Amino acid sequence: MNAQPKASHHIAGVYIEDDAGAVIESIYPATGELNARLYAATPAIVERAVEAAKAAQPAWAAMKGVERGRILLRTAQLLRERNQDLSRIETLDTGKAIQETLVADAASAADALEYFGGLAGAITGEHIDLGGDFVYTRREALGVCAGIGAWNYPIQIAAWKSAPALACGNSFIFKPSEMTPLTALLLAEAFTDAGLPAGVFNVVQGYGDTGAALASHPDIAKISLTGSVPTGAKVLAAAAPTIKSVTMELGGKSPILVFDDADLESAIGGAMLGNFYSTGQICSNGTRVFVQRGVHERFLDRLKSRTEAIRLGDPLDPDTHLGPMVSVAQRDKVLGYIESGKREGARVLTGGGVPELQGFENGAWIQPTVFADVTDSMTIAREEIFGPVMSVLVFDDEAEALERANASQFGLAAGVFTADLSRAHRVVSQLEAGTTWINTYNLTPVEAPFGGVKQSGIGRENSRAAVDHYTRVKSVYVAAGPVDSPY
Ligand code: NDP
Repeated sequence: MNAQPKASHHIAGVYIEDDAGAVIESIYPATGELNARLYAATPAIVERAVEAAKAAQPAWAAMKGVERGRILLRTAQLLRERNQDLSRIETLDTGKAIQETLVADAASAADALEYFGGLAGAITGEHIDLGGDFVYTRREALGVCAGIGAWNYPIQIAAWKSAPALACGNSFIFKPSEMTPLTALLLAEAFTDAGLPAGVFNVVQGYGDTGAALASHPDIAKISLTGSVPTGAKVLAAAAPTIKSVTMELGGKSPILVFDDADLESAIGGAMLGNFYSTGQICSNGTRVFVQRGVHERFLDRLKSRTEAIRLGDPLDPDTHLGPMVSVAQRDKVLGYIESGKREGARVLTGGGVPELQGFENGAWIQPTVFADVTDSMTIAREEIFGPVMSVLVFDDEAEALERANASQFGLAAGVFTADLSRAHRVVSQLEAGTTWINTYNLTPVEAPFGGVKQSGIGRENSRAAVDHYTRVKSVYVAAGPVDSPY
């Protein structure tokens, strides 16, 4: 399963190696085979990336927005042309089925580059008339920004962060999760091939300490993290002494509310996508599925048979629905949650174990699992599992469902399935979540803001909202007459 990159880091437009760093191994989670061996950044490599990004940023910010945008659009085109190879490597690195990576990874990175490439020339300040005097505002780049990624959508996360940052005139340093180091380097290659000036986008590999070095670096103006809540707290603390801007895309335990009048097949389909896609490793997954009592039994029946029809198998086979999880360690963590569900009295409706797949005995496999008879206080209903484990809970009325749905420290996402238009909007307006859906789940187009409330995050990615998070506003007061001074 060779996917060895040319070197571990990509700084100032070229690959750089430094074998003094700790070893990072990219493992194919389907089989446990080695894809590639890389090295974490030493402090010298981190400094080199910061210096390159600092040196490149002023000239990049001074370019016209449409010129910057043109380079992002060219990069998007290259990602689309290279999608087959990029998807294969993303599958090797993450284990996600190629059926998914072909449409949801490099393709979604390209969407972000196209959207922000198009927007780059339209980032403007405003004019405020004061009846003679006036104020105008400038939207200026922040400087050097850094991104730290999770393992589930490696190239997508790198692009969701860098595309708006670059469109706004910032330079960028990205640190992928050490579990999925490969495709961010290929994004860097595509940027370089598209004509991005050297140093505007850089990739350094590393573990948590490399992320911490970026989060605390005095020459970095902003840090954007996609990761868990505990890591978010650490990164916020590391960013505090230098008062950095932050965007935090953190974890969730999102609710899906299915009312009696919902189109049941759509609600089941939405709940399955919102729990099993990417083998359950999606932050916005709707892992608490509240079903109204009148349809509860029918919902469980159909959910069981549809879940048992999911095809697990060779991730590189286009007919496979689900691959393994990202690593055996993560899979074992999820199996631990499944055991806690059983222990605390939930009923396994389907799944709950490790599938037997010939030729894949050493992989990080797990069955898509549904628990019924779940109550709010169970561990599986409170903690983020980050695997393909759905909890189904029953409810009687709307007020009760809302109260229980909101009883969580998380607030990333939520969904409602109902045929009653008024109820849909009323319920969504009261759900404590940053991203919500009516009669669908987990669609996150680049045109829409994405992010969480409560402990699920700070700031928004995608859409015009991201521009606010990668620029600072300067007010310019302009006098039209002489200074009126009493002195
Ligand atoms: P982690 O929080 O473990 O790690 C995220 C990134 O932070 C990794 O690159 C990690 O490096 C790095 N890191 C770890 N410790 C530190 C530190 N002290 N300072 C700086 N960086 C550090 O998350 P996972 O990779 O396990 O991803 C899963 C989590 O991400 C889930 O909670 C999920 O909900 C969340 N997530 C949120 C999304 C959102 O948009 N809201 C989207 C996707 C995932 P290393 O890999 O070396 O540990």
